[in-house]
Amino acid sequence: MILFFEYTSFCCCCISVDSTVLTIVMICRYELIANAAYIGTPGKGILAADESTGTIGKRLSSINVENVESNRRALRELLFCTPGALQYLSGVILFEETLYQKTAAGKLFVDVMKEAGVLPGIKVDKGTVELAGTNGETTTQGLDGLAQRCAQYYSAGARFAKWRAVLKIGPNEPSQLAINENANGLARYAIICQENGLVPIVEPEILVDGPHDINKCADVTERVLAACYKALNDHHVLLEGTLLKPNMVTPGSDAKKVAPEVVAEYTVRALQRTMPPAVPAVVFLSGGQSEEEATVNLNAMNQYKGKKPWSLSFSFGRALQQSTLKAWAGKEENVAKAQAAFLARCKANSEATLGTYQGGSGLSEGASESLHVKDYKY
Ligand code: 13P
Repeated sequence: MILFFEYTSFCCCCISVDSTVLTIVMICRYELIANAAYIGTPGKGILAADESTGTIGKRLSSINVENVESNRRALRELLFCTPGALQYLSGVILFEETLYQKTAAGKLFVDVMKEAGVLPGIKVDKGTVELAGTNGETTTQGLDGLAQRCAQYYSAGARFAKWRAVLKIGPNEPSQLAINENANGLARYAIICQENGLVPIVEPEILVDGPHDINKCADVTERVLAACYKALNDHHVLLEGTLLKPNMVTPGSDAKKVAPEVVAEYTVRALQRTMPPAVPAVVFLSGGQSEEEATVNLNAMNQYKGKKPWSLSFSFGRALQQSTLKAWAGKEENVAKAQAAFLARCKANSEATLGTYQGGSGLSEGASESLHVKDYKY
C-alpha cells in the first residue's frame, strides 16, 4: 500500500500573497497523521542515509573510497536498490543532494522509494554550534529559510523531515540552558515542517559519551523528553503528526554494559513517564551501538511486557550500514555481497520491531563491532 496522501477534503487552506506570486499553503492534518502512523507500521522502520557530505566522507574514507558525488550516489543506489530490502522500510532519510539524485539507469531515488511504498524524508538541520558560556554544549542551526526549504522538499517528494539536537551528559551537563534551547529549537522546527506538509522527526539525541551509569542516562533522558513535549505543546505542534527519535537508555560508553532486558525496561519507563500516547511511534537512533546490539535492544523493548501505546521501531544510520559498507569497499564486484548484508540487517530490525528477532542471524563482518565515535557529528 502506498501512502502518498494528496490534499483532501480534510485539509484546511490558507492563502498568502507574496508580492506578485500567489502562494497557496495547504495545511493537511490528515496527511501528517496518516504519514506518521504509516512510518510506525510494525515490521517496518527507517533507514537514516542522510549523512552530510562531510560525514559520508568519513565513512567512505574508512573503505578507501573518494568522497565525490559519483561515489556517494553509488553507495545510496546500492542501499535503495537492494532487492527485497524496501519491504522492511517505511521511510528513508536523505541528505539534500540525494533527494535529487537518480539511479544509474536514470530513475529518481524518490521514485524508487514511492514505488516500493517507502516515504522519502529529508534532513533539514544545518548542524550544531556551541552555546557560549557552556562546557561545549550545542544548539542546532537551520531555522532561517526553513519554511521555504520544506516547501521545496515537499514538491520534490519528501514527506517527513529530521532535525538532530544534541545533548551531552557530564558532571554539570546537560545544563538547563541547553535543554531549553534544544527543546525550543525542535518545537520551532516541528511546527514549520507541519505548516509545509512534512512530518517532523523530533530528535533530541543524548550522546552516549562518558562513564555514567544507566540511572543517570534515564534521569537525563526523562528531563530532556519532558522539556521537548512541553515545548511541542507550547508551539501548537500536532503530536499525532510527529515521530520521536530518541537515544536508547543505556550506560555511558566508558561504563560496563547491561543486558538488553535492562535497556528495554529503562528505556520504556523513560518513555512512559514523558511521551504522550498521541505520538504514534518511536524510531530509535543507534548512537554508536554495534549493528547487533542495536537490534537486540530494540527486540527486547518489543518483548517487554508493559504499557507501550506507541510502536517502537528504528531509524538507524550506522547500525544499518556498517557491514554493508565493509562488504562493498567501493568495488562493483562486491555489490551483491554488500546488498546481502544490508538485506540481513533490514530483516533483523524488522523482526526486532515485532519482538521476534532470534539474534545472530546473518551476521556479517562488522555487525558486532562498536560504532561509537566520541562527540559524533551527523
Ligand atoms: P545513528 O543510528 O548512526 O546514531 O544515526 C541516526 C541518525 O539519524 C542520527 O541523527
